[in-house]
Amino acid sequence: MTSAFDNAMKQLDQVAPFLGEKYNRGLKLLRTPQKILSKKISIKLDTGKRKSYQVYRVQFNNARGPFKGGIRFHPNVNLDEVKALSFWMTVKCAVVGIPYGGSKGGIAVDPAALSFNELKRLSFAYSDFVAPYIGPWQDVPAPDVNTDGQIMAWMLEEYEKKTGQHAPATFTGKPIELGGSQGRTEATGVGGVTVLKEYLKKCPTSPRLRGTKLAVQGFGNVGYWFAHFAQKEGFKVVAISDSKGGIYNPKGLDVDQVWREKEKNGQIKANITNEELLTLPVDVLVPAALENAITTQNAGRVRAKVVFEMANGPTTPEADEILVKRKIDVIPDVLANAGGVTVSYFEWAQNLNGYYWEKEDVLNKEKKIMIKAFNDIYNEVQKRKVTYRKAAFILAVKRIIDAMILRGRV
Ligand code: NAD
Repeated sequence: MTSAFDNAMKQLDQVAPFLGEKYNRGLKLLRTPQKILSKKISIKLDTGKRKSYQVYRVQFNNARGPFKGGIRFHPNVNLDEVKALSFWMTVKCAVVGIPYGGSKGGIAVDPAALSFNELKRLSFAYSDFVAPYIGPWQDVPAPDVNTDGQIMAWMLEEYEKKTGQHAPATFTGKPIELGGSQGRTEATGVGGVTVLKEYLKKCPTSPRLRGTKLAVQGFGNVGYWFAHFAQKEGFKVVAISDSKGGIYNPKGLDVDQVWREKEKNGQIKANITNEELLTLPVDVLVPAALENAITTQNAGRVRAKVVFEMANGPTTPEADEILVKRKIDVIPDVLANAGGVTVSYFEWAQNLNGYYWEKEDVLNKEKKIMIKAFNDIYNEVQKRKVTYRKAAFILAVKRIIDAMILRGRV
């Protein structure tokens, strides 16, 4: 398995030639996280026995603001992956220009194997462990793969119990009742569709919006909302998959119908494999599941004209090179899926002010930020004749190191 952190560092290496000498030392510092928390924590199972789980929190860089990043529950969570994800968060917050650094956390666990009460105890235990290191001005966690508002609510409760005060701005992605923001659930999907529309507007050779065919890999929070809003905007979603397989209909799928069926039966009514979805004859391929979906094994067979990365790290650097050679545009994760953290930023700002906004305000402000971020990157692509990923990394890494220089860290 390719190391996600090695991949992330290769992406960083690629921007070095575009930055001046004054950035050299900063680039070196940006290869190491500022803090790594790693521990085995144990909880009582319903049987009365205790079981331990490996947990992590990696705080990569906070030059631009408090650390910010989600918490993942997945059997494959490991330090290498959490480090990579925390680096990408640092870059992503700088890409959209929100005042945060980057971090990430996770537990190596299959949450489906735990009962409701076991999951609750594990969430309390994780929060208890990281409590001294998080907080509104320190590090602000959020949901990621297999975590949601309920888990954030449990973690907030434990954190507030320990600190003795209300501090809703410590976690984002909370339920509305506990200070969550309107629009946060769908924010990543909304942001993605906004960027995709902007990209298609700017690129005369790209497929036209109405009737543009999309294949979406991954049908969780990100994949569902992206597909839902894409269809609403006139795109044709022809394929969707989850971890068990995919459904394909060249005439177009009814996204909400597929979702209802998945909710009823626990899985999609599959007629293709995950691998087949990646090489379908579509205009836009949207990986929205996990890392390393597009590799040297399949990049040569991708038939889409655009790869639109809604997951974090779905394309390996080697696969990226193959796509570039084949003139397939890749809209990178650090831009495409940044709508989620953007609305998390709004949630944090609302919590700190104790004043809450309407959904329309939230989504309009989000779209404005996403459109500006896309245009900044588009201009860099035109100016330097580089890929969208390189352009995004050049802008972001420059912003991060400039902040490090101003602080005297470099
Ligand atoms: P989720 O747990 O809600 O959904 C993940 C989905 O991926 C599930 O439908 C699962 O079945 C599917 N999946 C897993 N392995 C697969 C495979 N091999 N093939 C096809 N499908 C597969 O998680 P999510 O929150 O939707 O996150 C998805 C990705 O988006 C992750 O990379 C995450 O880091 C990233 N992301 C999430 C957010 C957010 O706001 N939730 C924001 C930015 C980025």
